[in-house]
Amino acid sequence: MSYSEFYNPEETFSRDAICALQTERLRKTVAHCMGSAFYRKRFADAGLSPEDIMTLDDLKKVPFTTKQDLRDTYPFGMASIPLSECTRLHSSSGTTGNPTVILHSRRDLEEWANAVARCLWMVGCRPEDVFQNTSGYGMFTGGLGFQYGAERLGMLTVPAAAGNTLRQIKFFTDFKTTVVHAIPSYAARLYEVMCERGIDPRKDTSLRILAIGAEPHSEDTRKRIEDMLGVKAYNSFGMSEMCGPGVAFECPRQEGMHIWEDYYIVEIIDPVTLEPVPDGEVGELVLTTLKREAMPLLRYRTRDLTRIIPGECPCGRHHRRIDRIKGRSDDMIILRGVNIFPIQVEQVLMQFKELASDYLITLENEGGNDGMTVEVEFTEHSLDDYSALQRLEKNITRMLRDEILVTPRVKLVPKGTLPQSEGKAVRVRDLRKQY
Ligand code: AMP
Ligand code: ZN
Repeated sequence: MSYSEFYNPEETFSRDAICALQTERLRKTVAHCMGSAFYRKRFADAGLSPEDIMTLDDLKKVPFTTKQDLRDTYPFGMASIPLSECTRLHSSSGTTGNPTVILHSRRDLEEWANAVARCLWMVGCRPEDVFQNTSGYGMFTGGLGFQYGAERLGMLTVPAAAGNTLRQIKFFTDFKTTVVHAIPSYAARLYEVMCERGIDPRKDTSLRILAIGAEPHSEDTRKRIEDMLGVKAYNSFGMSEMCGPGVAFECPRQEGMHIWEDYYIVEIIDPVTLEPVPDGEVGELVLTTLKREAMPLLRYRTRDLTRIIPGECPCGRHHRRIDRIKGRSDDMIILRGVNIFPIQVEQVLMQFKELASDYLITLENEGGNDGMTVEVEFTEHSLDDYSALQRLEKNITRMLRDEILVTPRVKLVPKGTLPQSEGKAVRVRDLRKQY
């Protein structure tokens, strides 16, 4: 059977066509936002009426929406349609204060499934594939989001959900799973357990495509996972506030993630001055939804740091590309006045073949001085002699110092030592707050 390379016409729209569609949808979205008590007040406070927003350029008149706004309006204050017309609610739990609530109408769920299906189709998934989802279902949007998208595409879906690694692996072999969705830390875990059981993913499974996302990971981590599992791994970006997965996804070129501009208006701003940064420079991603019915969001500050990759992708899609997420502005470690992102540490560690994928950064205060310890697991057979271990620790320390400008204490620990988390990996432990 022959298929088209593209899932739907919008996918290959020219820049002009994308902008025209965005303008039309922005006007509709702004008018629709007036259904929400929150945006009515926001506009009134800013002295704006919906008619003031006629062009894409006018969008900058609209104040930003923040996660705090979502918390302040908990649970239903952001709804633009009556609750009786909403069909699903997702909630992300906050460690402090109210969680946030995201509401969806039936049409929102349809559109979400279409967006995820487009992403999966783009990387070569077809109805003949068997898709296994290792994400938690329920409130975590990587579960239901990928489920509906994969079903929309027509694959045979295996909603295995999170955990139970042995059962996941049995499903891989028994059901001849070809496509998997996993967070990067779990993809590495699957490989380790397969090795322990004497299963070679390249020979003993049919795996060929992996969607990995939900947490920051480096290019080296991706390559490692691809090598381990014998798959092509595509970076998948999304967040609950924007539905979940399906916001941006890598195409087969693997040179950045196309962000679907028929669904979102993309801005990158300086998180301090709140001014736009030029294309190519890192800043905070700000998104405006263009097709959301239950809870449209205008200029939502995602806190995620990334940049627009300048230039066109040779794949034929004109939706702009964002780079790997560098981290969230709230993940940034400030150590002795130096700003550090955990991903910078990962980028260095993953260059060492002797190291496994798990690491943990601990920040402590000893005698009034802040310090950083990086514990990282080494692979079972890589280091049997003590002096080799010491040499490696020294090398890693030197490379880390060059990258992050502070000298951390590096501790190599045997594989399986660091705590495993079921959901997104915990990479930083900040014990300084106790002092
Ligand atoms: P949640 O709303 O709980 O699904 O979390 C969404 C957040 O996960 C985003 O705002 C990002 O910080 C992070 N995230 C999602 N996808 C990726 C990705 N591909 N790379 C890095 N971080 C990601
Ligand atoms: Zn592309």
